[in-house]
Amino acid sequence: MTIKDFAYDHPDRDVAAFKRAVANKLIYAVGKDPVAASQDDWLNATSQAVRDQLVERWMMTTRANYAQDLKRVYYLSMEFLIGRTFTNALLAVDLYDTVREALADFGVDMAALSEREPDAALGNGGLGRLAACFLDSMATLGVPGMGYGIRYEYGMFRQRIVDGQQVETPDYWLTRGNPWEFQRPEVNYRVRFGGHVQKREGAGAVSGAADWVDTHDVLAVAYDTIIPGYGTQATNTLRLWSARATEEIDLSAFNRGNYMQAVESKNHSENVSRVLYPDDSTPSGRELRLHQEYFFCSASVQDLLRRYLRNHKTFDQLSEKVSIHLNDTHPVLAVPELMRLLLDEHGLSWDVAWAHTQKVFSYTNHTLMHEALETWPVEMLGRILPRHLQIIYDINAKFLAAVTQKVGNDVELMRRLSLVDEAGERRVRMAYVAVLASHSVNGVSGLHSELMKQSIFSDFAKIFPERFNNKTNGVTPRRWLAQANPPLAALLDQRIGKGWRRDLSQLEALRPMAAQPAFVRAFRHAKRENKLRLANWVEQHLKIDIDTDALFDVQVKRIHEYKRQLLNVLHVVTRYHRILDAQAAGTPIDMVPRVVVFAGKAASAYAMAKLVIRLINDVASTINADARVGKLLKVVFLPNYSVSLAEVIMPAADLSEQISTAGTEASGTGNMKFALNGALTIGTLDGANVEMRESVGPENIFIFGNTTPEVADIRARGYQPREIYEENAELKRVLDAIRDGEFSPGEPARYQGIYDALVNWGDHYLLLADYASYVAKQAEVDALYRDSDAWTRTAILNVAGMGVFSSDRTIAQYAHEIWHTKPVVLG
Ligand SMILES: *Cc1c(COP(=O)(O)O)cnc(C)c1O
Repeated sequence: MTIKDFAYDHPDRDVAAFKRAVANKLIYAVGKDPVAASQDDWLNATSQAVRDQLVERWMMTTRANYAQDLKRVYYLSMEFLIGRTFTNALLAVDLYDTVREALADFGVDMAALSEREPDAALGNGGLGRLAACFLDSMATLGVPGMGYGIRYEYGMFRQRIVDGQQVETPDYWLTRGNPWEFQRPEVNYRVRFGGHVQKREGAGAVSGAADWVDTHDVLAVAYDTIIPGYGTQATNTLRLWSARATEEIDLSAFNRGNYMQAVESKNHSENVSRVLYPDDSTPSGRELRLHQEYFFCSASVQDLLRRYLRNHKTFDQLSEKVSIHLNDTHPVLAVPELMRLLLDEHGLSWDVAWAHTQKVFSYTNHTLMHEALETWPVEMLGRILPRHLQIIYDINAKFLAAVTQKVGNDVELMRRLSLVDEAGERRVRMAYVAVLASHSVNGVSGLHSELMKQSIFSDFAKIFPERFNNKTNGVTPRRWLAQANPPLAALLDQRIGKGWRRDLSQLEALRPMAAQPAFVRAFRHAKRENKLRLANWVEQHLKIDIDTDALFDVQVKRIHEYKRQLLNVLHVVTRYHRILDAQAAGTPIDMVPRVVVFAGKAASAYAMAKLVIRLINDVASTINADARVGKLLKVVFLPNYSVSLAEVIMPAADLSEQISTAGTEASGTGNMKFALNGALTIGTLDGANVEMRESVGPENIFIFGNTTPEVADIRARGYQPREIYEENAELKRVLDAIRDGEFSPGEPARYQGIYDALVNWGDHYLLLADYASYVAKQAEVDALYRDSDAWTRTAILNVAGMGVFSSDRTIAQYAHEIWHTKPVVLG
């Protein structure tokens, strides 16, 4: 049969047809009487009707990919921080107004419905959100490919703030089902663990091949989600793996009559995809995490090889048809897994298999911080993945032998280059495996990519200079402007047309409009609407009244010492003290009213980050309750930072805080979302801030603090934070206040640890070294904000310069320079 002979109802797109579609879904798919249907039932029915609009595109794209036998990119990532899908899908199929009207006819409010959708929070922060923006851009550019990851049952924990402190609760996001996914029970793979390796002997055995036996196995079952492109019929697929017990439950236990034990072992294997590890900066080192990593790598590599072999009889064309991209080192086990499958299952020789592997893989590094680099104990790898450890040893031996042949025997160099760190407990360095196996290794901003070559990979960069390159991150303008900021999107549509959604460089057309008073007013009006929306959120959820005339000064991101939320707090307390002093002296206060907004989650085991959250909340309660401060300063901590909350926060910001210690933030993407929505940045020369300064113009961004070489220099000379503390009276007063319980009168010593970390224990992230420069720069921020036209003009110039930070630009570079893929052509 061909698709032409196959009759089915194509979904129509007018209001009447859509009403019918939703009604049918409500009754026949959800099984609910409209009289009794809840909001969630309506959301479910409507989502399914919207999904129908995507299916034909999806099938057409898949058929075209096969027919054109295009090279596919497989983007392997432990995290995909998608957020909500409903509004995004509506905008992609251009049915936003149609569906709103259809629902209104049923007496259902679409805005209220969309607020009920849970976020798909299958990621921690920037790395996972980047993967989600990339999927969007790959679909939009027609890059044939697929995201592969894990269908966690519990995503990123929900954060509540109780008595000022973070409390984590589980995020069971699937409670009401997931209308966007297609379960594919027939697409399943056996993933093996443990056991041992037997050398394969006898006639016909390829040398080096082995058998991995006596394993205990888990099934990986596929769940597919359609990723729609924007302004194109092209789509992509996000395939997430869920763990199932293999059919044979432990029959011996069963026969002994131990039913419970048999069922328990089933439960155990399904734990593999249960929960996302909620730490984005230190690897857990736990066995379950290693199981998760191998689980999704093995299923994905088996799946992509099966797809390749559908059209190809040999592996000769593997690298012409397949690209596997590693989002950080979490999926590096895909390397020995591909080698294992080629050697042991398909009988290729080592050299042929390794040549394929090196052409297929590419790797993105996301951090240089030593504590964040993934290593696994040899003992644990050998126990859980004995065959893979052997393969890693073989890769290592051949590599070190080749280097020795070239440069002679240099023991020190061997020790540095080895895939196995021999100092202390022997551990495999996953980043080195990634570099060795990949034809491309990229960093995520110009600065980061340079530092990567100079620091963690310096030896490799000398041996393989051609491998290293930069791909500066970007964000999708569909979610982060069109969807998150309807007032500004409407203004842009009116003044420069709608094309910016697919070609963000068109924002350049705004530049001359910064000089047009009418446009400046309209732009400010859009910002005000967004500030009102956030103020309403704050009023509703926190019962705090904030003034939309005040400058909204915003820092939202994971809570981490290197991101320096604490430096922001030092500035807040400085302002507080200045207000109190002026009050006491009876001098007029010349200060711009500010609302300082924080949000972010701390890893559950990260005590210092949690203490910072508590300090922010204590400072907020003290200041907000102090009648002497009035409207001059308010501090709010918004609980449960997430993609959907970010969509409310970003458009409302006047000032974006991007204040990490220079050299620590690989790129940042929050910085881009803010500027794209017309916030001005106060930031260090770190990550992509450096390139943002170039794009928006150095006169339109507030840069402060020590640069990366200056940071290195300060450390090399023996940094003495106590000297700075003692010399700067204003800073000393702030730190003493924190230490002495000004913000924790019920427990004065609560923040002794924070004081000590900064003053006595070395202030690792150089907050005190940057404090004076930061506070001075904040005064410049105040000065500009007083001139509201000048401020808005600067904001417009920021938006105008942000075109290059579209993830479409990033993905086009990956496609041309790393993956060498061609876009799908649709009929
Ligand atoms: C963009 C984003 C991040 C990354 O923010 P940074 O400021 O770059 O660290 C983290 N979490 C969410 C929900 C985001 O949307």
